[in-house]
Amino acid sequence: MAKLVFLGTGAALPARDRANTALAITGADPSSSGGLLIDCGGDIYSALLRADIGPDALSDLFITHAHIDHIGALPSLIESLRLGGRTVPLRIWALPPVLEVARRLVGVFDFELTLKSWSFAVTFAPVEDGQELTLAGIEARVATMDHSIPSAGLRLRLPGGDVTYTSDTQPAASIRALGQGTRMLITECTYPRAWEAGARMSKHMTAPETGKEAANCGAQTLALVHRGPWPDEEIWAEVAEHFAGTILLPKDGDAIEV
Ligand SMILES: [Zn+2]
Ligand SMILES: [Zn+2]
Repeated sequence: MAKLVFLGTGAALPARDRANTALAITGADPSSSGGLLIDCGGDIYSALLRADIGPDALSDLFITHAHIDHIGALPSLIESLRLGGRTVPLRIWALPPVLEVARRLVGVFDFELTLKSWSFAVTFAPVEDGQELTLAGIEARVATMDHSIPSAGLRLRLPGGDVTYTSDTQPAASIRALGQGTRMLITECTYPRAWEAGARMSKHMTAPETGKEAANCGAQTLALVHRGPWPDEEIWAEVAEHFAGTILLPKDGDAIEV
């Protein structure tokens, strides 16, 4: 089995015990050289260390979109990996406009000029809607979502069954298309029902909407990340009105077998 770590589970505004949302998957393919990191906001390097994921343990970084809470820590991540003694290459995957932001971010620090002589190589690889690719030895499919800027989700074929992660999005047909029959749906849950107007304005989801999406996908398990400062009990109750499967409200650092 592979291990999925919820490195962060918070929305754009971090809380005392909840950092910006990011995921890591390790051990999916014993022949692969490393694991997969999805998004890099906040203090991502410390979160990786707390999960016992060292500087050489990741081969691929997928950045879902270019909001600060998902990409803002890229320069410090690269610098921390270098200082941590990384030697293996890092591949960064994203939609073209997201990749452009990634290049500009690292360019501010002249990383692009100097990376070639660093202890490890960094490559940038564009992805597109519907693309099938292999990330850290995991077969994956990309689908664009419905967010305020270009954003992409992933369906991952893992030993314990498919896991689909939407990243930031409002309810969309593309969630159902990507996640149909998935074992686990991981999605954002930025607001409770009372904040539906805010969810539409910023193109996020409310708790009841996440339950409906998971039910429509036929998922067995729904894991909610990118959560705002509302009590878990309130969120869980609103989701459970629409989804009869297992509902997970992970804390930062929680790990599950997938
Ligand atoms: Zn976000
Ligand atoms: Zn966003």
